[in-house]
Amino acid sequence: MLDSETFTPEDARADPGPLPDACAARVLAWYDRHRRSLPWRAPPGARADPYRVWLSEIMLQQTTVAAVGSYFLAFLERWPTVRDLAQASLDEVLHAWQGLGYYARARHLHACARAVVERHGGAFPDSEEALRALPGVGSYTAAAIAAIAFDKPASAVDGNVERVIARLHALETPLPDVKPAIRRLAERLVPTRRAGDYAQAMMDLGATVCTPRAPRCVLCPVIDLCAGRRLGIGETLPRRREKVARPVRHGIAFLLVRRDGAVLLRRRPPEGLLGGMMEVPSSDWQPGELDRNSCMAAAPVAAGWRVLPGIVRHVFTHFELRLEVAAAHAPTARMADGVADSRWCPVDRLDEMALPTVMKKILTHGLKGLADR
Ligand code: SF4
Repeated sequence: MLDSETFTPEDARADPGPLPDACAARVLAWYDRHRRSLPWRAPPGARADPYRVWLSEIMLQQTTVAAVGSYFLAFLERWPTVRDLAQASLDEVLHAWQGLGYYARARHLHACARAVVERHGGAFPDSEEALRALPGVGSYTAAAIAAIAFDKPASAVDGNVERVIARLHALETPLPDVKPAIRRLAERLVPTRRAGDYAQAMMDLGATVCTPRAPRCVLCPVIDLCAGRRLGIGETLPRRREKVARPVRHGIAFLLVRRDGAVLLRRRPPEGLLGGMMEVPSSDWQPGELDRNSCMAAAPVAAGWRVLPGIVRHVFTHFELRLEVAAAHAPTARMADGVADSRWCPVDRLDEMALPTVMKKILTHGLKGLADR
């Protein structure tokens, strides 16, 4: 390393960085003492089950460890092996996934289980390349499975690892431009032995010590190798480009209620946002101002629709949705016969349906609005 008096961020970027062996050895020794106990993790020294590793990694995409725990255990109890999961229906999987969000992951999970059974006889492949060819398994997930389940020297860079590497090397280029540099530097630190433990150790280090705010550097096993710490900029890294405001989309949802209180639900097309899940029928979700006339023209049936007061808001990754809810009573059940992929659902059985959070919000808002009328 360079002398601290003359050490600048530019030097840090040019510096080859901590010696791979020294870094990995320290991180592994720290892991042996401080590893997190997680439901999907094999005990020290034991071989990890690829099914558990894969299931947890898919669930953890975009979701916190705390939120995933109970879902992971419930899935494992219901579908103890990848063959069991492959035999489940998509609806059962979507229903069990409810509340985890990003439902494309659940569809991919189901498709991947079937692919593992059909293409690989029920055993996960151990190479990154073959893993990447499975539905819903991207570069990161393939590397994580290869490393954790098969001890391959693969570099799994999640958000936690990204932060540790950016700080260790004092990388000041903002995300996402800095990602290729992080990947390269992360790769050279991966040890040839205990690669699976190392991958989990780096994740734990980022989650428990090198935290986004107030990193606990005094507890860090690589403190004396860390250029970010040395320059006093560790906590500010990785930098991010300024956020652009989330665009807003508008639409109208149509809550049709039968005499006995059942509501009309429709299945969304298999592809796209919330694909394959049940919905309260709605207009397109349009950018810009709400065009009430064109939205009302999208009502699933001709009825005495009345727009209820208030709106339903829901934030997706790439946009915010604001929906008005129009409600109407259906004099006969046959009224909805022409609505494709639809079914009536009694209100007390709504929790048995694969309903995403936004649809639950619409139902709560609409049923309350109708009761208040
Ligand atoms: Fe992160 Fe601090 Fe460790 Fe550097 S010394 S890797 S900033 S915890």
